Amino acid sequence: MHQALYRKYRPSTFDDVVGQEHITSVLSWEVANNKVNHAYVFCGSAGTGKTSCAKILAKAVNCENPVNGNPCNCCYSCKQIDAGASVEVLEMDAASNTGVDYIRDIRDEVIFTPSEMGTKVYIIDEVHMLSEGAFNALLKTLEEPPKSVIFILATTEIQDIPATILSRCQRFDFKRLSTHDIVSRLEYIASQESLKVQKEAAVLIAHLAQGGMRDAVSLFELCIDRDGNVTEDNVRSAAGIVGRETVIETVRAVAENKTDRILRSFRRYTVLLRIYRYLFRI
Ligand SMILES: [Zn+2]
Repeated sequence: MHQALYRKYRPSTFDDVVGQEHITSVLSWEVANNKVNHAYVFCGSAGTGKTSCAKILAKAVNCENPVNGNPCNCCYSCKQIDAGASVEVLEMDAASNTGVDYIRDIRDEVIFTPSEMGTKVYIIDEVHMLSEGAFNALLKTLEEPPKSVIFILATTEIQDIPATILSRCQRFDFKRLSTHDIVSRLEYIASQESLKVQKEAAVLIAHLAQGGMRDAVSLFELCIDRDGNVTEDNVRSAAGIVGRETVIETVRAVAENKTDRILRSFRRYTVLLRIYRYLFRI
């Protein structure tokens, strides 16, 4: 089965993460020195590495042979977590689970978890979407954090998180990635995949993605032509006609396998292409 490039080239250690050294150096130090916190908040715009870092941290604290605070990615625990089969690491999307019951379930579970089982890591994505009641339940858990449990709260909207929650978390702000970082990563992927990418094409993709690596890699993948080239023209024809928003919406839909959204985007492409053809009589 085809694996999307952005999944294939997701960083698997802190050292692999591009452009967030101010965060990854601290996290790997904390793991190596047994100074991991009970709660973290990872904030920053989409595709800057929040979820990747959360997974790496979850692996690192459970890894049987960590290397300088990085997970080994070879042991049983690392492999289970990578396969999404670990009972220690639980991910939830607050956009679809805003309810207080869910957080209460976590609290009950946390209290009765035997500590010899390793470190439980709860990753709550889009945490700003939680209801007020759910935030209160979460706050109670963070006020008396049980041993061997870590909460990682990820959000694009830090201003919507109650200050009481923030004050109990170690906060990390993920930066938008620089054009240089994105271009280097695309060139690296191209070399690994035996593809040819024009420098101008990589720079244009980096601009369109506005600092988000996931969007950049997904757009890059859409612009590969039959001969394995990514040219500036390929990128322009994707971006120039339809505008950045539609392009980004489409690459996200493809990346997330949302068929209905892909179709909607393509319908928009078709309409725009028809207008374009009409105007230029081609
Ligand atoms: Zn390991």
